[in-house]
Amino acid sequence: MNELDEIEGAGTGAGTGVGTEGGTPEGEQGAAPAGEFRSGFAALVGRPNVGKSTLLNALVGEKLSIVTPRPQTTRHRIIGIVNMPQVQIAFVDTPGLHRGETRGLNRAMNRAASSALDDCDLCVFVVEAMRWSKQDTFVLDRIKLSNRPAMAVVNKVDGVHPKGLLLPYLAELGARHEFVEVVPISALKSDNLEALTKAIARQLPVAPAMFPPEDKTDKSERFRIAESIREKLTMELNQEVPYGIAVEVERIADGEDGQVDVDATIWVDREGQKPIVIGPKGERLKRVGRSARMELNRLLGRRLHLTLWVKVRENWADNARSLKELGLE
Ligand code: GDP
Ligand code: MG
Repeated sequence: MNELDEIEGAGTGAGTGVGTEGGTPEGEQGAAPAGEFRSGFAALVGRPNVGKSTLLNALVGEKLSIVTPRPQTTRHRIIGIVNMPQVQIAFVDTPGLHRGETRGLNRAMNRAASSALDDCDLCVFVVEAMRWSKQDTFVLDRIKLSNRPAMAVVNKVDGVHPKGLLLPYLAELGARHEFVEVVPISALKSDNLEALTKAIARQLPVAPAMFPPEDKTDKSERFRIAESIREKLTMELNQEVPYGIAVEVERIADGEDGQVDVDATIWVDREGQKPIVIGPKGERLKRVGRSARMELNRLLGRRLHLTLWVKVRENWADNARSLKELGLE
């Protein structure tokens, strides 16, 4: 049973009574009138670490976007496509919007998040249950500026006990903006996601599907390989280094026995980071390669032979040309 059933009406749209102006009457939920197809872009927007990428993966049912306990893991706009009867939702995962960024990479990430927001049909504002910070205010102000309809999604409710504690939080949140709905969920436990997709579907324009029904993402295999390696590496490293890491897949080729040979370079932005990434006797790099390979074998349904190189490109994260070459601009 859905944990959220403890809260009366949680996630049933108009039933929550929190910031639900414009909700549709009972009985019409999620479904367009017969013959009408709805589709559009729903941008997942929020401060770093609220669970946007976890939510994207849970919605699509496949790991498209990497997830780590560290903020600012997502660097690109990643589209994840959800097909339902008469509905196609293209979710756009974005890097977390954050304030006062001077470094090139962070500015590029903010730009990616901002343009996703300005291009979407619905803004899905993700926050963390029971928390509100200046960063959330910053993001909400940006949403207000965009003039897009916005839905508030309160994630990580699995950590709230008893669930009744959520009610005043939901009410406060609902008062901050005219959200089309406020929906509590747990992306990690896949809790209340069906109510969420139905609520989103109601907000999308009547329009034909934008992607073929078999597509799950706009990203290539090459991109997903690079991201998987970056995730495993980020999990291994301490606070400062992950920012200075980029992964570039140099070569994908058919190898022996149906294997796929992949050569990838891990770029670091200072010579001193090289030994950290490689680790004593190369152990760290080996672990990274092994876990990325295992994940990718599963994700791509092919056996990979992965060769990793570590190279230095001084200050790439501040250098416009390097950012462009690494696909980050
Ligand atoms: P993003 O920066 O907004 O994309 O956040 P991520 O998806 O990378 O998640 C950040 C951290 O929050 C990770 O450690 C996730 O496992 C964790 N997280 C995400 N969703 C939930 C949730 O519903 N419940 C809990 N307890 N943790 C979550
Ligand atoms: Mg993310």
